[in-house]
Amino acid sequence: MATHFKHFINGRWETGVTLGVSENPSDLSDIVGEFARADAAQTESAIRAAVDAREAWGSSTPQRRFEVLDFVGSELLARKEELGTLLAREEGKTLPEAIGEAARAGMIFKFFAGEALRIPGERLASVRPGVDVEVTREPLGVVALITPWNFPLAIPAWKIAPALAYGNTVVFKPAELVPGCGWALAEILSRAGLPAGAFNLVLGSGRRVGQTLVESPLVDAISFTGSVTVGEAILAAASARRAKVQLEMGGKNPLVVLADAPLERAAEHAVQGAFYSTGQRCTASSRLIVEAPVFDRFAELMRQRTRALVVGHALERGTQIGPVVSREQLEQDLSYVAIGRHEGAEWLAGGEALERPTRGHYISPALFVAQPKQRIAREEVFGPLACLIRADDYEHALALANDTPFGLCAGICTDSLAKATHFKRHAQAGMVMVNLPTAGVDPHVPFGGRKASSHGPREQGRHAAEFYTTVKTAYTATG
Ligand code: NAD
Repeated sequence: MATHFKHFINGRWETGVTLGVSENPSDLSDIVGEFARADAAQTESAIRAAVDAREAWGSSTPQRRFEVLDFVGSELLARKEELGTLLAREEGKTLPEAIGEAARAGMIFKFFAGEALRIPGERLASVRPGVDVEVTREPLGVVALITPWNFPLAIPAWKIAPALAYGNTVVFKPAELVPGCGWALAEILSRAGLPAGAFNLVLGSGRRVGQTLVESPLVDAISFTGSVTVGEAILAAASARRAKVQLEMGGKNPLVVLADAPLERAAEHAVQGAFYSTGQRCTASSRLIVEAPVFDRFAELMRQRTRALVVGHALERGTQIGPVVSREQLEQDLSYVAIGRHEGAEWLAGGEALERPTRGHYISPALFVAQPKQRIAREEVFGPLACLIRADDYEHALALANDTPFGLCAGICTDSLAKATHFKRHAQAGMVMVNLPTAGVDPHVPFGGRKASSHGPREQGRHAAEFYTTVKTAYTATG
């Protein structure tokens, strides 16, 4: 019998109004579980529970918050293999990647457990005699957390942990493709010692559950990670009622390879950044911008390495690239391969649907030589497709790197300290990598982008306080 993933509302597990099914993208005959799907009324009941819990959780001591978050972090770390297996089965990234993500989610909870003990504030002398000034951070109230499918443990963790650390109550809505991971996280939180209603999980569609959260006047703030289209609609709706909004959206991240870079190592970074996690990372290196003198050599290295990648079942030992998450995503990836060919981009490798012993959404990683204005070099594919783009020199490479509506992450491979330093200053991105893949970030420092990639304060690290708190300035007469 399939596991039944339920909502967690006001401290109780609830069945849904309708049911959905979560499939294993590596093996469509394997049903990960059935999941509850909420309607607007059930979502509103979760919002009301979060409103009612505001006082209890918002006035809880730092020690209590530390204990709750530390408990969740410890359990995630202790169960990383089991949770990683669920993640790999439901989302399709390889088992080592999935175990790494479960561990990262644990580290994030541990980090914010510590932050709960260090909520910052200031006490200053007033410009007036006999007056003290205090600047403190207070919870926002009810926050809605809406997340995508591609990091189904880590992204929820980096929203839920700071939301709770700073005293907010939460309604969490995971993506419909990964209800099992959302449920597993909620199951741990349900035993962590929170007051009823402080954390709620509502499963279901973006249109029903997501939109109800965005439009509810009882929701004080919304943190969203997902596509640009949905993010922009959320921004418009939330701004209209003046709710605080944080958006993390797409990317079309450049990795610049200069002629002085160790090419083998640069190719390793490019393959890792472009294709691991099946290219389904907002930080994926989808534009490989290579200086002309080494372009042909680098392209050949990339062609060989891309063709050698092992595509297979996410849970199978030796698999380097798991399946794509869903049939729709596979179709989107294949359609971009067709667009690339149609636009006249030069095909170097992959881009074909594959058959494996189990029926799943398999595709060989695709590599093209593209012109900067071609669609595959400009639009986010969110799959294993990368473009090589020729640059005349460093200045041209930098201009190409910045010639995108997005600005999440930008990387450079070079032996030149001067060029690396210049790139760090002038790349129009929220994150810059030097001699590293564009994907792969630390859990204790800010994450986020510029331009169409992000809106609002950064996530993660100490900067998370900027979104999850509101500042109060208090004046006290001392005499
Ligand atoms: P998506 O925008 O389709 O969905 C994201 C979430 O929003 C899901 O939970 C979905 O149910 C919900 N949603 C959909 N419509 C909604 C609506 N009208 N109102 C409220 N909520 C709604 O994105 P996805 O397909 O799950 O994820 C892929 C996208 O996420 C890619 O574009 C990728 O770049 C982006 N992403 C960005 C980051 C980042 O931090 N920048 C990280 C991971 C993924």
